[in-house]
Amino acid sequence: MTSSTIVKVDQVSKSYRLGQVSVPALKNVAVDIHGGEFTALIGASGSGKSTLLNMIGCIDNPDTGKVWIQGVDVGTLNDNAKSDLRNQKIGFIFQSFNLVPVLSVFENVELPLLINHQISKAERRQRVEEALKDVGLETLANNRPDQLSGGQRQRAAIARALAGHPVLVLADEPTANLDSDNSNRIIDLMLQLNKKKNVTFLFSTHDEKLMGRVNRIIHIKDGVITP
Ligand code: ADP
Ligand code: MG
Repeated sequence: MTSSTIVKVDQVSKSYRLGQVSVPALKNVAVDIHGGEFTALIGASGSGKSTLLNMIGCIDNPDTGKVWIQGVDVGTLNDNAKSDLRNQKIGFIFQSFNLVPVLSVFENVELPLLINHQISKAERRQRVEEALKDVGLETLANNRPDQLSGGQRQRAAIARALAGHPVLVLADEPTANLDSDNSNRIIDLMLQLNKKKNVTFLFSTHDEKLMGRVNRIIHIKDGVITP
């Protein structure tokens, strides 16, 4: 593990139980993610992309194998320590944006920061304003999500992921609910944030067209990383 290794996944397997049968979702997966990378995890629907992102994001536990985040073996942490690690080190972007409808854009971006009591109110405001500026939504801070287009909603979700100053942003099919113009804009924005702010991204997609845009591709098929 080098100093810039943010994520190390080693021999991770995960199955889901469906009635009497066990459905394997990941089989002995090994992946490293380094600081500054912009990686696409590409695979068909059902190939295990979300399962792998959930393991890396400490949302779910592997059956066997280990996940390290910045050298910390996640399997050794209790639930509280895992939530803190998730909150402080990882930003999440989802296919369906997952914004809270009754909150303004500003409040949505601020929400994950409220959990971290080390961040003062003034710093929260400054971080939210900066994140909204980074995604070009500063003039829409007081709007509610239903007053935004799909592309703008995803930009708000990106701002929410960035405001925590994460070491890694995980984006699970962030463009799947967008038309191709908006998809391209979202990818461009993530690429720009990667270049300008050195944000490390790992995003999943089933869209092979996005392959040419990234500096690293990981293919996954039937729960196995393929060359
Ligand atoms: P992807 O994100 O690439 O579409 P997933 O990681 O969601 O793939 O799913 C991988 C496999 O695990 C699929 O066969 C899927 O049906 C199965 N699976 C995922 N989540 C569950 C679950 N909660 N219960 C049962 N099976 C699941
Ligand atoms: Mg998925």
